[in-house]
Amino acid sequence: MSMNSVPVLDAAAVARLLPMRECIGAMERAFRALAAGQAVQPLRLVVRLPDGSGALYCMPALLGHGEDGALAVKLITLFPGNARTDRETHQGVIVLFDASHGGVRALIDGASVTAIRTAAVSGLATRLLARPDASVLAMLGAGVQAGSHLEAMLAVRPIRQLRVWSRTARHAREFAEAAFERHGVDVATEASPESAVRDAHIVCTVTAAADPVVRGEWVAPGTHINAVGASTAGTRELDTALVLRSRVFVDSRTSALAEAGDLLIPIAEGALTDGHIRGELAELVSGRVAGRTNEEEITIFESLGLAIEDAAAALYIHEKLNAAS
Ligand code: NDP
Repeated sequence: MSMNSVPVLDAAAVARLLPMRECIGAMERAFRALAAGQAVQPLRLVVRLPDGSGALYCMPALLGHGEDGALAVKLITLFPGNARTDRETHQGVIVLFDASHGGVRALIDGASVTAIRTAAVSGLATRLLARPDASVLAMLGAGVQAGSHLEAMLAVRPIRQLRVWSRTARHAREFAEAAFERHGVDVATEASPESAVRDAHIVCTVTAAADPVVRGEWVAPGTHINAVGASTAGTRELDTALVLRSRVFVDSRTSALAEAGDLLIPIAEGALTDGHIRGELAELVSGRVAGRTNEEEITIFESLGLAIEDAAAALYIHEKLNAAS
């Protein structure tokens, strides 16, 4: 195939071809394949700018094989200073290759896939770990991931109340208004993360905070937490007390032990060991590891984001595009 005939799929095409519920299904299949040993996925390469202003992530993966396989690489930059400017904080592309012969199959907008697939993976984890009747959702953060996480949580649990806190109160208010308009959900903005989290059943932390935004003493028994925002060894959203109180699952042990400040900082403090990690999402999906064992447990899903998620989403988008043509 010549490069001229390679489809280029922008954010609008991704939104059309990758609805949240379908993406949750695609992520479940990807983690099942990972559990079955049908994936190759090295730890991502990160080039950080010396002044700390941004980073380039290179995330290659192979999922499955042959005609049905996904061989892909996501190249994505993260420049947090772009928030609320004309530029997005995440910008990049996924190149999907043919896993049989190596040809380029598609070029897909990386930011929109990241927004959807990250929330879909949290949705999958929530379906496996949250109490079935969890209906009160606390959203800490009001950016791109907050929007997609709201959609994912609505897809997997009977959410009847949303509480939003964000560092900039105006952003929380705007998010709440948009959430009410789009989903008709009962929503309140909160003046502090503490008031948002108290008595919530599900908490999503989707901030670019460097220091904890949630403390263990605020969290009610039985809560499930998706910890998504912090993705470097030196930053975290959860304090040590919360991690110690909780049953902890990760998307990947290798990634978590390289990149998850939520766990690495308490480990460096000597407060816990890597044995505190109960399992990976692939082990949960395949039933190899038990998830929640009672109504009182606090569960944490620590998300770093994996290349197989991008490869699986890219393959799904490409298959749907072909099916429609
Ligand atoms: P956005 O830029 O859209 O939103 C960032 C959010 O973080 C805003 O709500 C902002 O609050 C808040 N924030 C920024 N700095 C701070 C701070 N110091 N303390 C508290 N809150 C802060 O980013 P995204 O929604 O795209 O991403 C959110 C986070 O998730 C990022 O850290 C990103 O790296 C991470 N991420 C993780 C992925 C994974 O796979 N696990 C994938 C993609 C992203 P406000 O605007 O109100 O000031």
